[in-house]
Amino acid sequence: TLRAQKITKTFGTDTVLAGIDLELAPGEWLGILGESGSGKSTLLRILGRFLDAEQGDVFFKGQLLKPVASELMPGHEAIRLIHQEFELFPNQTVEENIAYSLRFYELDYRLEKVAELLETTALKSVKDRKAKLLSGGEKQRTAIAKAIAERPDVLLLDEPFAHLDNHNRRVLADAIERLRRQQKMSCIFVTHEAADALAWSDRIAVLRDGEIIQIGTPQEVYNNPANSYVAELTGDIN
Ligand code: ATP
Ligand code: MG
Repeated sequence: TLRAQKITKTFGTDTVLAGIDLELAPGEWLGILGESGSGKSTLLRILGRFLDAEQGDVFFKGQLLKPVASELMPGHEAIRLIHQEFELFPNQTVEENIAYSLRFYELDYRLEKVAELLETTALKSVKDRKAKLLSGGEKQRTAIAKAIAERPDVLLLDEPFAHLDNHNRRVLADAIERLRRQQKMSCIFVTHEAADALAWSDRIAVLRDGEIIQIGTPQEVYNNPANSYVAELTGDIN
């Protein structure tokens, strides 16, 4: 569904992405694993059309995506990015935040869908709380529920497991598992935790200094690391 070709991005004299090739199959969950500063968020922002690459192209369903500036609003509607610092309406409740994403639907459907999403993301108990008062994990799940409500083809998640304690990781993981079963959504998620990449990906791309140094199934990456860097990154997870 989504294909990136030779994506290059520099900030000043720093090359942050050095020719990234990536392809996401329909329904696939691709984990991008890399250390802080390796270029993960920058890559997601380019794929989500919040940022233009210097060189390279992004294709969605075979069509070349235009530069960000040429579109009315950034962000392709079929591709939905959840930023590392997620944006919610702070003075609206969890329920209102989610309902906003469904505003173009009929009331009955909207109510049904909001209830379902609150259930899936384990947010029922805080549904009337204003977003600004939520914990990090609750904000993260609200942002994901909002994004799912829009039924994008591709969901881009920037560090979905960051700032979560074990309980909330479990809750989010269950929500993701349910999504994978129920909907044919594809997803690229970014993480610096090898355990999360190994647990949730159909394929893992290992990013180092703006280059993908290995891509493969979790088994391939774990059992046959391309080099000692990958071995070390994925090896000491237990
Ligand atoms: P983290 O795991 O800490 O979120 P990351 O892999 O997501 O890291 P990026 O946010 O993509 O890393 O940043 C990659 C590099 O590019 C970093 O060195 C960062 O300082 C730099 N960078 C990112 N955005 C900009 C910008 N707008 N201007 C200048 N430098 C930037
Ligand atoms: Mg980042």
